[in-house]
Amino acid sequence: MSKQATKFPLTNLRKLQQMVVSCSRIGDCRQMVKPYVGRYDVCPVKDYLGGFEPYVARGKLRMADGLLRGTLKMSDGLAKAMYECTLCGSCKEACHKSGNACVELPISRWIDHTKVFEALRADLVESGLGPMPRHKEIMGSIEKEHNAYFEKHEERGKWIPDGTSLSAKGKLVLFAGCTEPYRQPEILTSLVGILDAAGLKTAVMNPDEYCCGSVAIRTGNKALAEKLARHNVEALKAAGAKDVLVHCAGCYRTLKVDYPDIVGKLPFNVVHATEFIRDLIKDGKLELQEGAVEGKVTYHDPCHLGRQAGVYDAPREVLRAIPGLQLVEMKRIRENAWCCGAGGGVKSAFPDLAVSVGTDRLTEAEATKANFISSACPFCKGNLVDAAKAKRTRLQVKDIVELVSATIA
Ligand code: SF4
Repeated sequence: MSKQATKFPLTNLRKLQQMVVSCSRIGDCRQMVKPYVGRYDVCPVKDYLGGFEPYVARGKLRMADGLLRGTLKMSDGLAKAMYECTLCGSCKEACHKSGNACVELPISRWIDHTKVFEALRADLVESGLGPMPRHKEIMGSIEKEHNAYFEKHEERGKWIPDGTSLSAKGKLVLFAGCTEPYRQPEILTSLVGILDAAGLKTAVMNPDEYCCGSVAIRTGNKALAEKLARHNVEALKAAGAKDVLVHCAGCYRTLKVDYPDIVGKLPFNVVHATEFIRDLIKDGKLELQEGAVEGKVTYHDPCHLGRQAGVYDAPREVLRAIPGLQLVEMKRIRENAWCCGAGGGVKSAFPDLAVSVGTDRLTEAEATKANFISSACPFCKGNLVDAAKAKRTRLQVKDIVELVSATIA
């Protein structure tokens, strides 16, 4: 065995070798033409990084292939290129559904692009070349304080408004995540206000909740992700959860999609806040008043909620149910949505790149003449707010639960 193979065994990537060799190299992951959308760029980071192959899926798959064949060496440069990707999954969507029968190859549907990139990141971590320095600091915070924000674990529940009757145990448990308690409490207080208005008893696992582990999975720290998943599943079981309500799209995808892969079948349901609110409105349990918010709203699909977990309709149904608000759609939506720029560890390691991608999304939103751009994820909101400041847009960035909460009768 060569020195390189001993030092970099590629244990995670090797399991996905069939996916890696299935790339036909046609390049739909660079640019696509689709009915109703027209010609569009697929990868949000490509043009900001020079448009070169390592910055689109085809090039990343070729690098993975070279590593597995031993024709390419692991390096810091390769590691950086692998982390300059939001793991948005737009390339997978374009690759699987090109809509062009002449070039569509069934074997490309074997490739789960983000899974391959996450596996390669895990190998980079095992080889000591990953993650990026900022990610390492964040992992340290998660190990020590169980959150990604260098905040004290004891302060996780600080967002809970005085006089709110949230219990520690119950059938309906709100999984709050890290971003909202520590950085965007307005989203959680809005959500709790909505649940209160619907007369629901909700539990919050403070202080037994830890970071969901999304950031660890995305940046390649599998051991930490497993530790967090096992802790949270046990804590949710001990809290008596039958339904776990999640708002943060990153936490939702992690609990709903990744946890079963890590710990097996979950003993509770995982439901996104927009699905839950949609059902409350349908069942007549939530009355929304006219006049509180007015104008046009455009919806930004979070990658973790849309492409990665298949939730496209519930957020739109909630927005359509708000009296006085008109939903207007951007050009690239649902499966083809442009990423906000924050995912995959890009916001923390490459903040300028994240904001640049976010400003592209705002340009698309401005074209709809909307007053609001709304999403259902604190990462999207945070990055779009930063992009809105950089762009000096007149668009207001609001989460869906904030808009609903403002209209509660
Ligand atoms: S996951 Fe998104 S950012 Fe990463 S290569 Fe694919 S399209 Fe580009």
